[in-house]
Amino acid sequence: MLNAQCIFCKIIQKQIPSTVILETDHTLVIKDIYPKAPIHYLLLTKKHIEHMGHATELDAAHLADLGLCVAKLSKTLPGTNGFNTLSNNGRSAGQSVDHLHWHFISGKNLYEGGLSL
Ligand code: AMP
Ligand code: ZN
Repeated sequence: MLNAQCIFCKIIQKQIPSTVILETDHTLVIKDIYPKAPIHYLLLTKKHIEHMGHATELDAAHLADLGLCVAKLSKTLPGTNGFNTLSNNGRSAGQSVDHLHWHFISGKNLYEGGLSL
C-alpha cells in the first residue's frame, strides 16, 4: 500500500513531520510546505498511487474520500470564500511528487492575469 522511498508515504506514516489539517481512514490533509496561496493544503491518498492516471476501481473509496475531504475543508474557510482543487499528473504537467495528491487552494484567484499556481 505504501512505498518506502516516497516522501508522502513517509509523511502518512509520520516518519517525516507535517502540519496535519484533517485525517480520515483514506486521506491525510497537510499544509503545503511551500504555500502558493494564503491557504494551500495537500490531500494525500493513504495508498501509494502514482497519480490519477494510475487509479483503478480498487481505489474508488480513496478517490471518493478525496472529494468528501474537499467538502469538509470548504466548511473551514472564513465566510463564503471560494477555493480551487487541482491535481498535477505526470512530470510534463508539473507533478513533482509521484504520489497521488490534490491541492486545495483558497485566498488567491488563480485565473487573475492568466492561470498560475
Ligand atoms: P506537485 O508539484 O503537484 O507534485 O505538488 C507537490 C507539492 O508538495 C508541492 O507544492 C510542494 O511544495 C509540496 N511538498 C513537497 N515536500 C513537502 C513536505 N515535506 N511537506 C509538505 N509539502 C511538501
Ligand atoms: Zn507514496
